[in-house]
Formats: sequence, structure tokens, C-alpha cells
Amino acid sequence: MPPPTDRPDPLAAWRLTAPPHYQPQADEVALFTAAYAARLPVMVKGPTGCGKSRFIEHMAWTLGRPLVTVACNEDMTAADLVGRFLLEAGGTRWQDGPLTLAARHGGICYLDEVVEARQDTTVVIHALTDHRRCLPLDKKGELLRAHPDFQLVISYNPGYQSLMKDLKPSTRQRFTALDFDYPAAALEAGIVARETDLDPARAAQLVQIAHAARRLKGHGLAEGISTRLLVNAATLIVRGVAPRAACRMALVRPITDDADLRDTLDHAIDAVL
Ligand code: ADP
Repeated sequence: MPPPTDRPDPLAAWRLTAPPHYQPQADEVALFTAAYAARLPVMVKGPTGCGKSRFIEHMAWTLGRPLVTVACNEDMTAADLVGRFLLEAGGTRWQDGPLTLAARHGGICYLDEVVEARQDTTVVIHALTDHRRCLPLDKKGELLRAHPDFQLVISYNPGYQSLMKDLKPSTRQRFTALDFDYPAAALEAGIVARETDLDPARAAQLVQIAHAARRLKGHGLAEGISTRLLVNAATLIVRGVAPRAACRMALVRPITDDADLRDTLDHAIDAVL
């Protein structure tokens, strides 16, 4: 048998190749580091596009762990997470799913927007999140003990919460949790400028527009203008699109189909730019 170093790295595809740009909002880096040291599962909560995934990438890079990310959806089955037998010419072959890969080889498994998955899918993580740290692979007849470096992280957006789509209390109670929100104005402008090379004064104006839109949340708007959308607007401006047109396209049209709201937001843009 070849020495372990000669074996291909099963998590090679999930290793980050460059440090992600991340600007901390508060003490989340220290808190996550402590949770990882104890291998406690972490839940990151907050609106879409506010920096949750970027934070987890930053932590995976800082901790030197591969990051196995799964974008959850309602069609996802437990087998999509855990693995399945594949039919091949010579018979069948077991293929680990992303959760099993991370648990077996010591990665951080990040289940993004976990409430999108059905609850019968989500329960497969239970045994991994308590002192047992194991994953029963029933079909394969294996009880996998998680690698010492394995950690489970989930993200979720409380704004989308509904009776049909929520985390079961028995799932929630297995996690520690960090609250995220859009960064404070000066920080958010700095992030947008740094991500896109936009002029900082212009970035501050985009954040001003976002603040106007965020005040409309609950008055017809399900979600405010996120940091992600500001980065998109800035990207268009840097590529030469006129600022007002860029903001209409990147900030307003994606978040509303309502003509009145669209006009209100377009006016907010014209008032700032
Ligand atoms: P979420 O996972 O909350 O939906 P993301 O982490 O994908 O959101 O963030 C969306 C984008 O916003 C990122 O791609 C990045 O450009 C930017 N961003 C948000 N917060 C930060 C931050 N604190 N530092 C650097 N970039 C950020």
C-alpha cells in the first residue's frame, strides 16, 4: 500500500486556493475559532447576501480546513448528503456524498440555507452534532466516526421563516449560533469599494441607497438590498455603466416586481446619485 502522502487528497476540490477577502463585523472570528476548537456545530443566521458564506470561507482558510459547501434545496434527499451506490459495469460502487466526505476526511461541511431542505433530510445530521460525532451509513452498513477535524456549519435566513419551512427545535438545539446582519454603513462601503475597486465616495452613496430600501422591508419588500447586490451595482459602475442605470439594474429590479415600489426605489437612487 502506498504511504498516505502518495494518495490523492479526497477533499482536494474543496480546498480554498487563495485567502478570501473578509472584513469582520464584530467578534465573530474569535467566537467561531473557539467553537471550532471545541468542534461545536455552528449556525450562522442572517438575511441573504450579508456575508455569511464569505465569513465561513474566511474561517475555513484561517483554520486551514477544506470547505465542503452544499446549497440546500427542497429536492435534496438524505442520499444527496450522505452518498449512494452507483451502478457500474462490474457491479455497484459506493460514492460518499459531500457530508460523508467532510466527516470522513476532516473538512468543514457548510450546509447553506439549510431550511430549504426537507426535515427528513436534515435529521441525518443529528448524530454528527452530539457527542457521538458519527454518521450512520445505513445503506452501506457502516457507522462512520467523524474525523477529529470535522465540523458542521449551517446557514439560515430567519426572514424566510414559515411554518412549513423552519428548523425543528430538536435540530436547532444542537448548534451554537451567530447572528449576522448587513455591515454598518462605513464598513459596508469599505467592503464594496474593496471588492470592486469602486471609488469609496461612490460606494458610500450605494450604501445610502441600500439604507433607504432597507427601511421599506416589511412594507412590501421581503428583503432589503443586500451587500451582494451593492457589489453587483459597483461591478457594473466600474465596468462603465452609468451609476443610475447600474443601480436600477442591480439593486431594484432583482428585488421587486411591484411598479410602485420600483418607482419609490428609483427615486431614492435619483436623490442620492
Ligand atoms: P450570504 O452567504 O449571507 O448570502 P455572502 O457571504 O455570499 O452572503 O456575501 C455576499 C457578498 O457580499 C460576498 O460575495 C462579498 O462580495 C460581500 N460581502 C459581504 N460581507 C462581507 C464582508 N464582511 N467582507 C467581505 N465581503 C463581504
